Amino acid sequence: MQMPAKNSEPERLVSADRLDDDSSFELKLRPRLLAEFIGQSKAKEQLAIALEAARTRGEALDHVLLFGPPGLGKTTLAYIIANEMGVAYQQTSGPALQIQGDLTAILTNLSERQVLFLDEIHRLQPVLEEKLYTALEDYKLDIIIGQGPGARTHVLDIRPFTFVAATTRPGLLSSPLRSRFGILLRLEFYNEDELRFIVERSAEVLNVPIEREGAEVIAARSRGTPRIANRLLRRVRDYAQVRGNGTIDRECAGAALHLLGVDPHGFDELDRRLLLTIIEKYDGGPVGLNTLAATLAEEEDALEEVYEPFLIQIGFLDRTPRGRVATRMAYEHFGLPQPRRQPGLF
Ligand code: ADP
Repeated sequence: MQMPAKNSEPERLVSADRLDDDSSFELKLRPRLLAEFIGQSKAKEQLAIALEAARTRGEALDHVLLFGPPGLGKTTLAYIIANEMGVAYQQTSGPALQIQGDLTAILTNLSERQVLFLDEIHRLQPVLEEKLYTALEDYKLDIIIGQGPGARTHVLDIRPFTFVAATTRPGLLSSPLRSRFGILLRLEFYNEDELRFIVERSAEVLNVPIEREGAEVIAARSRGTPRIANRLLRRVRDYAQVRGNGTIDRECAGAALHLLGVDPHGFDELDRRLLLTIIEKYDGGPVGLNTLAATLAEEEDALEEVYEPFLIQIGFLDRTPRGRVATRMAYEHFGLPQPRRQPGLF
């Protein structure tokens, strides 16, 4: 059988990953203070206490690990931490750091108590990860000067700083690395009320008139993810301006999102294809991730990190030890009868 080529479709409107034109827009909408950060009450409370304590002691905040699916506010929180501590902020990412020199340069140039944010830490090279250990633990850095038999190790002091790392895959971190973080914050998908608040706040920042019901329609289709909510708001704003009277109300939001192929669950073509493939080609599952990825011509990582978490969260998909399974709710959504399963299959 010939494998279809890897997906070359345009970027998905409901992808939780940052798309090319999101960046400048997100900067405008990014909350700057913890009080403006909506939802995630548990993580927020934990952070508020740690911030207050560090400020009172006049020390750098303990290192923070933020984890959860993309688009839920990890970068935003890193930025808020720096702002709340009144310190400098610098951002880099696992894949961006290629050589030891890059990391050494960043660490030796840190200012007192500043925040260093490292996105996608699960993609940091192991040698660099090991370099980080002493930096995180004792604010010291081993550097090797010279080569061959004459090479010598020097220990450099670096300024106390707060390392904030983010990952969508906490399970991939080694335990020595994980143990370097004093504050672990898990971000969860947002509920519709929280997303409505976020949409209303963003509309206010962008000066877009919006009715509560319009914000509700956008919130319901945002897959629990603020990044998607903000992106849909932008597209609906265009529609309201061109096809409506400029105000986003329920009809306008519904019509715009229908036109864009985003259904009432926030599903797009790929979600439907993923679920229907499991149902129609694999009898509802279980089907292994690699088989599913090959059938859909998608990357395994993308399926696992970007598409599946939300389908699992809303109860349409199950991850079992034997593979992915479409649930009763998924069959009902498509109006299909669920086959009887052999007992003990799950
Ligand atoms: P991540 O780093 O987890 O991928 P980001 O922090 O970049 O996500 O968040 C994406 C966008 O969503 C931000 O620009 C911000 O505008 C918005 N956002 C995220 N979380 C919140 C929140 N709790 N309240 C308001 N806006 C938020």
